[in-house]
Amino acid sequence: MMISVKMQKALNAQIGMEFAAAMKYDAMAAHFEAEALPQAAKRFFKQAGEEREHAHKFLRYVLDSGGRVQIPEIPAQPHTYRSSEAAAQAALDSEMAVTKSIHKLMDLALEERDHATAAMLQWFITEQVEEISSADQFLRLIQRAGEKNILAVEDYLADTAGQK
Ligand code: MG
Repeated sequence: MMISVKMQKALNAQIGMEFAAAMKYDAMAAHFEAEALPQAAKRFFKQAGEEREHAHKFLRYVLDSGGRVQIPEIPAQPHTYRSSEAAAQAALDSEMAVTKSIHKLMDLALEERDHATAAMLQWFITEQVEEISSADQFLRLIQRAGEKNILAVEDYLADTAGQK
C-alpha cells in the first residue's frame, strides 16, 4: 500500500464528505424544484453530479494506491430551506467545510512526506477555489435580487447556463 493507514482513513472520510455534499445538493435541487425555481434546481443537480465525481476521484486514488475503500455512513441532509438565501448560504458553508477538510488532508500528506497524495490533492485545492467563488457568487446574486425578485435570479441562471 502506497499510503499510510492514517491517510487511507482520512481519504475514506473525504469520500464520505463528497458523497454527503452530492446528497446535500440533490436535496437542495429538489427543494428548488418544489419551489418552482427550475434553473436553481438545475444548477444544484449539476453540482451534485460534480460532487459524485469528486468522491469517485478520491475512491479511484485509494484503489490505485493499493488501499481499501470504505465508504462511511452518510448522514441525512436537509431537504428543505426557509429561503433561497438560506439554501445558498448552506451551499457556501458546505464548500468552506470541504475546503478546510482538503487542506487538512494536504497538511497530513506534507507531514508524511507523501508526495503522490499531495500531487493528487493539488487538483482539489485549485478546484475548491472555483467552488467557493461560484457558491459565493450565487449567494450574492440571491441577496442582490431579494426573495421577492427571485425570478430575476432564474432569468440570470437561464441566460448564463452553459457559460463558465
Ligand atoms: Mg467536492
